[in-house]
Amino acid sequence: EVIQQGGRKIVSMSSKMHQELNRRAMIDRKMLTALNLKNFQVFYQPQLDIASGQFTVFEALVRWEDDELGYISPDELIPIAEENGLILEIGAFVLEEATKLAIEWDQKGQPIQLSVNSSVREFSQSHMKDRITDILAATGCPTNRIQLEITENFAFQAEEEQSIFHQMKELQEQGIEFVLDDFGTGYASFRYMQQLPISKIKIDRIFTNSLLTHPKTQQLVEGMIQFGKSMGLYVIAEGVETKEQFELLKEMGVDAVQGYYIGVPVTADKIQFE
Ligand code: C2E
Ligand code: MG
Ligand code: MG
Ligand code: MG
Repeated sequence: EVIQQGGRKIVSMSSKMHQELNRRAMIDRKMLTALNLKNFQVFYQPQLDIASGQFTVFEALVRWEDDELGYISPDELIPIAEENGLILEIGAFVLEEATKLAIEWDQKGQPIQLSVNSSVREFSQSHMKDRITDILAATGCPTNRIQLEITENFAFQAEEEQSIFHQMKELQEQGIEFVLDDFGTGYASFRYMQQLPISKIKIDRIFTNSLLTHPKTQQLVEGMIQFGKSMGLYVIAEGVETKEQFELLKEMGVDAVQGYYIGVPVTADKIQFE
């Protein structure tokens, strides 16, 4: 948008903002139809367990490609879905797909865990626990095949907190594991670690990324691994893109690694077991 002002042409500050708002509005508007038309997909990324040398977990990642808007990344669509409420639908869709796959792999003798990201907004809905157990019951998926990843990058409302912790605890008692995702980037790690029923932490990829280039990162990551282990947690490093990062993390004692070096996210039909 170019506006005339005193004979000078200046590009309006709002031009880019308009475009962004427009894209956002379109994403918002098209989301429900896309869900109903099954234009959403789930991709799966392997996690390598160091001790066994096996892919023991696959992380489910939502994907949406639109004819007009192109690829809409989760980082773009999840916040909008949290606002318009469709996060519940998306969460249910991804969990259903993941449970179906868990059962399919189970029948092939592959007891693999599926790791599903969940938005804390989903947990602020007081029936989250029931929604999850209902989906598992409907598909017949054993609870120990599913784990939920929650990011520490959130601020709970004090009044919600107890309800969320309580629901998580009940799910954990039923066999569902929790992973604290993007570890090291949130504001309340230590407080949540004390209260949340988590059994794994996933060190954020920004740390993996600068492991070999930033002088202090190595000590930082070593500290996070030792801390996790001292808490009895299983420690995962994400965003592993190179052999050097992989070797160093292994040496430092992580339990598992995930990243493009190990495997990129793909559709389920591309995943083959020997
Ligand atoms: P996340 O859970 O931390 O997932 C890891 C992200 O890093 C994924 O991005 C994945 O594709 C990407 N990634 C994996 N390996 C590498 C690597 O080696 N290098 C780099 N640079 N990136 C790598 P994606 O799929 O775009 O998802 C972004 C975030 O959106 C996720 O972060 C997660 O927080 C959220 N998300 C994805 N799917 C869902 C979902 O179904 N529900 C909810 N609530 N959130 C989701
Ligand atoms: Mg995750
Ligand atoms: Mg992460
Ligand atoms: Mg993330």
